[in-house]
Amino acid sequence: MPNAIELSGVAKSYEVGAVTVTALHAVDLTIASGEFVVVLGPSGSGKTTLLNMIGALDTPTDGKVVVAGQDITGAGRSELFAFRRQSVGFIFQSFNLFPGLTAFENVQFGMDVAGRGARTGANQSAQDVLSSVGLGERVQHFPHELSGGEQQRVAIARALATGNPILLADEPTGELDFNTGAQVLRLLQSQAAAGRTVLVVTHNREISRIADRVLQLSGGRIISDGPPPDGKADISELSW
Ligand code: ADP
Ligand code: MG
Repeated sequence: MPNAIELSGVAKSYEVGAVTVTALHAVDLTIASGEFVVVLGPSGSGKTTLLNMIGALDTPTDGKVVVAGQDITGAGRSELFAFRRQSVGFIFQSFNLFPGLTAFENVQFGMDVAGRGARTGANQSAQDVLSSVGLGERVQHFPHELSGGEQQRVAIARALATGNPILLADEPTGELDFNTGAQVLRLLQSQAAAGRTVLVVTHNREISRIADRVLQLSGGRIISDGPPPDGKADISELSW
C-alpha cells in the first residue's frame, strides 16, 4: 500500500499588512492508506491550514505535498481541480450543504462533481449511500428540515459518494451534541476500517482518544505523534 499522504518541510505563512503570520512551520508527516488519524490542537494551532494543504484548498509557502501518489506542490489549477475531484472528500464543522437542494440532490451533486454520478453507473446510488448513513427515509428533506447530526451525515454521505479514498473532516462534531457527535465519529471511524484514509481535526482532547494515531499541533508545529496521550478509548466510553 502506498502512503496516502506525504508532507516534507511544508510551511505556510500569510502576509497580513506588514505582519507575517506563520500558520505551519516545516511540517514532515507520512500517513499510510487506511489510517484513522486525529489532529488535535487548540484554536489557532494550524489544524485547518494543515488540512487545507493536504486537500489542495490552499498552497504551501514551502515544502512538498504528495497525496494519493500525486505531487500536488507544483500543480496548476486544472490539475488541482482534478485532484480534488478524484482524491479527497471534505467534511466541515458547519456541514456546508446547499440549502436549496434536498439530501438526495446534495449527495448526487457531490457525485456529479467527482464524475461519479448516475451517468457512469459505476458506483452506489445517492439513495444507497444515504441509506448507509441511516438517512434512507430522509432523502427528500431539505437541510433546514434536518437536525444538525442528520445534516452532518448528509455531508458525510456526499463525501463518501464520491468514492474518493481520503476523507478530511474539520471539527465535524463542533456543532453537535454528544450523542449525535458520537454517531458521526463512529461513521468516520468505520470508513477507515473499510479502507479509506481518514483525518479528523478537533480541539477536543477527549475525542482524540478514539484514534489509532494522534498528531498534536501547537503553534504550527507537530509536537507529538503517536497513540492517544490519554489512552485509547471506545466512543461509548467518552464524554465531552
Ligand atoms: P486552527 O484551525 O487550528 O484553529 P488555523 O489553521 O485556522 O488554526 O490558523 C492557524 C494560524 O494562521 C492562526 O494564527 C490564524 O490566525 C492564521 N491564519 C489562518 N488563515 C489565515 C489567513 N487567511 N490569513 C491570515 N492568517 C491566517
Ligand atoms: Mg480550524
